[in-house]
Amino acid sequence: MKNVYLLGATGSIGKQVLDIIDNNPLDFHIVTLTANTDLDGMSALINKYHPKYVAMGQEEAANILRIRHPQTEIGHDTLGLIKAATLNPEDHEGLLVNALVGMCGLVPTIKAVEIGRSIALANKETLVIGGDLIMPLAKKHHVNIFPIDSEHSAIWQCLHDEDINSVKNLIITASGGAFRDLSRDQLESVTAEAALKHPNWSMGAKITIDCATMINKGFEVIEAHHLFGLPITKIKTILHKESYVHSLVEFIDGSIIAQMAEHDMRIPISYALFYPQRKLNSVPALSLSEIGKLSFAAIDLNRYPCLGYAYEALEKGGLYPCVLNAANEAAVQLFIEHKIAFLDIETIIRGQMDHVDNILNPTLEDLLKMDASVKEAVFITTLK
Ligand code: NDP
Ligand code: MG
Repeated sequence: MKNVYLLGATGSIGKQVLDIIDNNPLDFHIVTLTANTDLDGMSALINKYHPKYVAMGQEEAANILRIRHPQTEIGHDTLGLIKAATLNPEDHEGLLVNALVGMCGLVPTIKAVEIGRSIALANKETLVIGGDLIMPLAKKHHVNIFPIDSEHSAIWQCLHDEDINSVKNLIITASGGAFRDLSRDQLESVTAEAALKHPNWSMGAKITIDCATMINKGFEVIEAHHLFGLPITKIKTILHKESYVHSLVEFIDGSIIAQMAEHDMRIPISYALFYPQRKLNSVPALSLSEIGKLSFAAIDLNRYPCLGYAYEALEKGGLYPCVLNAANEAAVQLFIEHKIAFLDIETIIRGQMDHVDNILNPTLEDLLKMDASVKEAVFITTLK
């Protein structure tokens, strides 16, 4: 039985992680759980799983929860998330599942790596910002980082037992998001509500907006660079509206291996939780005869500039990926709050990326400082 330390338990990925655990009760034991503000969601989880420790992102939420559950130890803020990620430091068989959204996942991940805990990682922002710190640290502490993101799970499965030197390209597929059939002119007036309707996947709000701007694909390029250690020139993207091919690996001999499945995150989550085993699940089988045809097309970077910004950030390195992520997090929040228009998201990111005083090899403190200052700049300049 594996101990699970689950960050972001009340979110889209977190709930699916718990669904898999519920279906395999002899394989996993929940030790810690976290959420941000979802009090009722977390109360229900405490009653069901009796975790040893709980953390809420917001202190006020933690205070209310402490009154509701006096028997449970409840922390809050970054220190609470760190404790939830690193409780029982001697438990080297335990698994941290990081299903947080945004940069709040960065520090708990680093602290878990430092105690030698393996990580199933959904929280892509963590690798986007801190991949240069985390991957060498994971190597040093012999920590596995198992991807949950479906594209990286696909690549991981395609690379199985292959020599990384025989890889010509990783090819990451993109659905195109909620607005893929709209022109740039039409994008000027789209609403947050419309952006939140992804054509193929049901996900948390931020990643759904990130899919519509295609910055999500850019984050995945950066994530793939860190996870698989390949240079930017070998990481390609392609539009694949049907989302059945989750990504592909092209080898030097001309072979391309693809991973296909229904668009259901329980498949990559399950692969990460049970690795190296495959486990039976209730996801319907993919019917190729019903699907009939699949389409692939080049992605137009004029249509989706944020994808280009991500390649640029990876190429420039240092603080650039942190700036890209921070500007996006702030802009997406403003868009969801109806304070800016959809196309302002890319303008804000561009504006912040044009004024980076870059440092190569930034420390964690440098990254945290830059994240805070970019977000503050976006909020101040946008809301003045
Ligand atoms: P959700 O928004 O659905 O869930 C996020 C979780 O993190 C919730 O439990 C939320 O708590 C918690 N949280 C949010 N902000 C904070 C904070 N400041 N401090 C502490 N906890 C916080 O996100 P998703 O599940 O969709 O995505 C999670 C990650 O996985 C993201 O990085 C996303 O890009 C990635 N991903 C998601 C996929 C999907 O299908 N959803 C697919 C591939 C990758 P609360 O509920 O209280 O707000
Ligand atoms: Mg993905």
